[in-house]
Amino acid sequence: MAFLKLSGIEAAYGASQALFGVDLELAEGEVVALMGRNGMGKTTTIRVTCGMLPARAGRIEFDGQDITRLPSHRVARMGVGLVPEGRRCFAPLTVEENLVAAARPGPWDFDAVSRLFPRLKERRDQRAVSLSGGEQQMLAIGRALMTNPRLLILDEATEGLAPVVRREIWAAIGTLRAETGLAILVVDKSLRELARVADRAVILERGATVWAGSMGKLERGVTDRYLGV
Ligand code: ATP
Repeated sequence: MAFLKLSGIEAAYGASQALFGVDLELAEGEVVALMGRNGMGKTTTIRVTCGMLPARAGRIEFDGQDITRLPSHRVARMGVGLVPEGRRCFAPLTVEENLVAAARPGPWDFDAVSRLFPRLKERRDQRAVSLSGGEQQMLAIGRALMTNPRLLILDEATEGLAPVVRREIWAAIGTLRAETGLAILVVDKSLRELARVADRAVILERGATVWAGSMGKLERGVTDRYLGV
């Protein structure tokens, strides 16, 4: 049974429709890559999933429950942890304060996050605003983990980062996958890295799902057609 299931999702920003039929399934413990060119609806799909934008049509189920019309705080409380595009943290708060403010009971606490990202422990008393882009991204992921989610959603977690930092983020995602069995939905542009970490892919084109399948079946023809520039 699907842990997260989106069926026929449509959504709009005012009069401008952005999603025209998104279908997506993710099983427990699975890593799914949500792909598509710029502006094809990946972030909008995530917003609708997290209750930040209402679905105009379709249905979203999480862990067997209909969450289509739940507000975002209720979706979060059900165990959906979001690392939003743009790595938002509380700038005036320290690293530790940012993490503790997000905490909910479970195995992910300050020490566990510090093991995944030792850099955050080194910087624990530093204000978030003074961190590098990569460190802010680690903090954003750490904050989502502190909520002890059952599903982690990462929107462009490596965008705009230096290659060495990107590798650290991908290594952390690999660790999460291997050691925790956390279900992960990941949006990123790097096909090579996604191929390493994801079990399956869902591709969007103009706001609709056009391809879904296992990562191994993602052939050149498909990537050229839907992901090529
Ligand atoms: P990117 O990789 O560029 O982030 P994406 O696949 O995540 O792209 P979305 O950001 O979901 O795409 O955008 C889907 C469509 O919705 C686009 O046509 C975009 O212009 C439009 N859109 C996104 N955000 C808004 C907004 N706040 N108001 C109006 N239209 C929006």
